[in-house]
Amino acid sequence: MRLRTQLFIIFSLIIILTVGTIGFLFYREIGAVQFDRLRDTLTAYAVSASMLIDGDRHPSLAEPGGGDDPYLDELRDLLRRFARIDPRIAEVYTMVRTERPRLLRFIVDAAEARDKDGDGVIGEDELPARFGEEYDIAALPQMRRAFEGPEADDGLTRDRWGWWLSAYAPVRDAAGRAVAIVGIDVAADTIRAQQAQLFRTIALICAVFLAFGLVAASAYAYRLTGPLNDMVRAAREIGRGNYEHRVETASQNEIGFLAGTMNAMAENIRRSFDKLSTLNRTANILASTLDLEQALKISLNLAIEVTRSSRGVILMADRLEDRIEIIISEGAGETGCGGEELRIGGRSAPALLRGDRKAQIREWLEMAGCTQCFTLVTKDAVRGYVLLNPEIRDEEFLNTLMKQISFAVDNARLFHDAITDGLTGLFLKRYFHIQLDIELRRSQRHGRPLALLLLDVDHFKSINDTWGHPVGDTALREIAGAIRGCIRSTDIAARFGGEEFAVILPETTAEGALRIAERLRAGIAARRLAHGGAEIAVTASAGVRAVAGGTVPPSAEVIRTADEALYRAKRDGRNRVVLWEGA
Ligand code: GH3
Ligand code: MG
Ligand code: MG
Repeated sequence: MRLRTQLFIIFSLIIILTVGTIGFLFYREIGAVQFDRLRDTLTAYAVSASMLIDGDRHPSLAEPGGGDDPYLDELRDLLRRFARIDPRIAEVYTMVRTERPRLLRFIVDAAEARDKDGDGVIGEDELPARFGEEYDIAALPQMRRAFEGPEADDGLTRDRWGWWLSAYAPVRDAAGRAVAIVGIDVAADTIRAQQAQLFRTIALICAVFLAFGLVAASAYAYRLTGPLNDMVRAAREIGRGNYEHRVETASQNEIGFLAGTMNAMAENIRRSFDKLSTLNRTANILASTLDLEQALKISLNLAIEVTRSSRGVILMADRLEDRIEIIISEGAGETGCGGEELRIGGRSAPALLRGDRKAQIREWLEMAGCTQCFTLVTKDAVRGYVLLNPEIRDEEFLNTLMKQISFAVDNARLFHDAITDGLTGLFLKRYFHIQLDIELRRSQRHGRPLALLLLDVDHFKSINDTWGHPVGDTALREIAGAIRGCIRSTDIAARFGGEEFAVILPETTAEGALRIAERLRAGIAARRLAHGGAEIAVTASAGVRAVAGGTVPPSAEVIRTADEALYRAKRDGRNRVVLWEGA
């Protein structure tokens, strides 16, 4: 059974009991008062009637032959007229004493013979008392006392005519002697009718109260359980995962308190859920990139969004934690780093990580207009610093977020290291092979052109031999830089061997590839490597293999033919570019 129904039943029972008890008490009290008032009224009537009776003439009626006294009829008329003053009066009569104290004798009975039960016969009980009829008052001492003064029955009395309530008063002669009593009766039926009327009135009032009470009980049960039902609904909604749902209640009682607590709980769940989904989203996004700079950019934007910062900066240290190597910013003005200095918000600071780190961080924060610095830590080493001015300062959550970013950044860095040549910064041969396969497949699928360029430094051995190995290394770095400067971001440049380089040029025709190779060759040839006052000239030869797209040869074939073209360039005198044009 629902709580509302239970409450309604309890309230209803209380109301029914209360209204019933009050109704019963009222009925009893008012009934008693009514009865007393009727007795008083009857007594007053009896006294009034006694005043109307001539106490000097009445005794003669009791004498022998009194039945013929004209006063008898006169008195009967008088009493009949008197009886009409109140419709409740059933009988008016006079009685006198007899020689025996337990007997009185009727003189005048104003009642008329009436067929009360309607059986067509006037029965003994339907006749008035006969003149001189004796009446036993053994059980009615109040009638004897009535010769002293006015009296009334305490309750209903019974005689051969039925049930009555009676009052009596003495009739006195001029000397003040009580010569008779006058009695006035009200039929019990009249009293019962009066009581029934009272009962109906009180019952009606009770019914009205009851109706109001039940409506009020229902309304109150609803009012009490309404907020509870709201809470049940809210619990169901929250259980379904709708953490935005709130209980609306204005009540100031325990239920209101409970609703408030529930809302707070839902809010906490929602926040935790938001955090979890943010972390999950972060993990997904970060897992989708292995490019270090891109991972850093994504991380910064996420950190800004999640903490509701207006700006942010990420500073990444080099592997030795010696200097700031990478700086990425969002909304913090012009930033950059290179060499010995880094720039944040248009101002510069040392890039070297030396001395008081805390003071350095304070300086960065001030330059970036940020308030908080988080560290990116992996394997107990500080890899970077994230500067933010966060609106959300949930330490635990932010630390988890930073840990995720650290892992992602570390991952990207490991991947970068795994595919990058340490000396030149170009991709390693392994990665080159994978990418060549991918690009060839794409070229085949989309029918797009592709070119492969192989480049070999001319007489590099003699550079090493003449100037030393480190100078050779520098030359290789310079050439890698020249390659990077000549190609698009979508081109893939790799260190193919000792002093050999390979560049995959997607979406590039033979002419395009030749143009790029020639520009590269000229660029390298124009360079002069300064060493100990001397200027070292370096040249390189290149072989180009172009693929039209559609049906493409296997990668080994592409490499072999490019190498063939390179061999021809060497054979034809070096410092030149040769396009492979078939066997
Ligand atoms: P060619 O014009 O025919 O290509 O002559 P070459 O001397 O460049 O050709 P060769 O293949 O005989 O010599 C390549 C040299 O490159 C040999 C090797 O010592 C040198 N070398 C390979 N890797 C490195 C490197 O990482 N650093 C330096 N300094 N030298 C390297
Ligand atoms: Mg070589
Ligand atoms: Mg060479």
